[in-house]
Amino acid sequence: MTDRYCVIGNPIAHSKSPRIHAQYAAELGEDLQYEQCLAPVDGFAATVARLIGEGYKGANVTVPFKLEAARLATRLTPRAQAAGAVNTLVFDGGEIVGDNTDGVGLVADIVRNAGVSLDGKRVLLLGAGGAARGALLPLLDAGPRQIVIANRTLATAEALVAEFADHAARLAVSGFADVDGPFDVIINATSASLDAAVPPVPATVFGPDTLALDMMYGNKPTVFMDFAAGHGATVRDGLGMLVEQAAEAFALWRGKRPGTAHVLASMRQSQ
Ligand code: NDP
Repeated sequence: MTDRYCVIGNPIAHSKSPRIHAQYAAELGEDLQYEQCLAPVDGFAATVARLIGEGYKGANVTVPFKLEAARLATRLTPRAQAAGAVNTLVFDGGEIVGDNTDGVGLVADIVRNAGVSLDGKRVLLLGAGGAARGALLPLLDAGPRQIVIANRTLATAEALVAEFADHAARLAVSGFADVDGPFDVIINATSASLDAAVPPVPATVFGPDTLALDMMYGNKPTVFMDFAAGHGATVRDGLGMLVEQAAEAFALWRGKRPGTAHVLASMRQSQ
C-alpha cells in the first residue's frame, strides 16, 4: 500500500514541499504520496488525529503550527526539544514523534551546497524567533568559535541564550546597531524581509569573504540579500535550507537520505 504524508499549515497552497518530496520519492523509488493539508487555525490537533486515523505515516508542519506540534508530540528528539518547535512528525504506532529538521537543513545548505565550513568561524544570527531557535543547536554542533545573536527585542535574544547555558562561552547577544563585525557567516532568521525591511546592522558586519544567507526565499533576492551583496558578501536565499530540511525529514520517514542537488537546481529554475 502507498504510504501517505503531508505538510500541515495555514495557508498551505504556496508550499513547495509536495513537489520536493515527489522528486525524492521518484529518485529513490519509494512508494509514497505527499500532499498539502490545510488545517483550521484552531484545528491542528484534530487534523493530526484525523491523519493518524486515516493511516498517514507522518507529516511536515509549517506556519503557524510549529509550536503547537511540539506540545502535541508524545516524544521530542533532542533538537526539537532545544528548538521548542517541530517541523516533522512521525506517526509511529501510538507515538507522535516530533523532530525539527530546519536547523540541520540550514547547516547542510551552508556546508554542502555553499561549500562553507562553520568550524572555527564567527557567525551572526539575526533574529531570535522560531527559525533562529531551531537553528541554534545545529549551528553550535557545526563548531563555530562564536555565534552572536542580534534581535530587535534584546530580551528575547537574552532568553534564548539563557536556554543554551552549556554553550555560553561561544554565545553572545547584541542589539542590531551595536553588532561588532566582521563575520564569516551571517544568517537572517528574522521575518523582516517579508516587510521589505533590513535589520539595521552596520555595514562593517560584512567582509569580502562573508556568506550572507536569508532564510526567506522567493522569485527575487530579498532586500537583505541586496544589502549584503552591496557590501561585498556572497549571498544565498532560504531555498537550499528548505530543500535540505525536506531531505532530512524524508530520511527520518524512509531511512534513506535523497540527493538534493538536482532538486535544488530544478526548484531554482522554476522560481
Ligand atoms: P518568528 O515570528 O518566530 O520570528 C520573527 C523574528 O523576526 C523575531 O526575531 C522578530 O524580532 C524579527 N523581526 C520581525 N520583523 C522584524 C523587522 N521588521 N525588523 C527586524 N526584526 C524583525 O518567525 P520565524 O522565526 O518562524 O521565521 C523567520 C523567517 O525565517 C521567515 O521569513 C520564514 O519564512 C523563514 N523560514 C525559512 C525556512 C526555510 O526552510 N527556508 C524555515 C523556517 C523559517 P522580535 O523578537 O523583536 O519580534
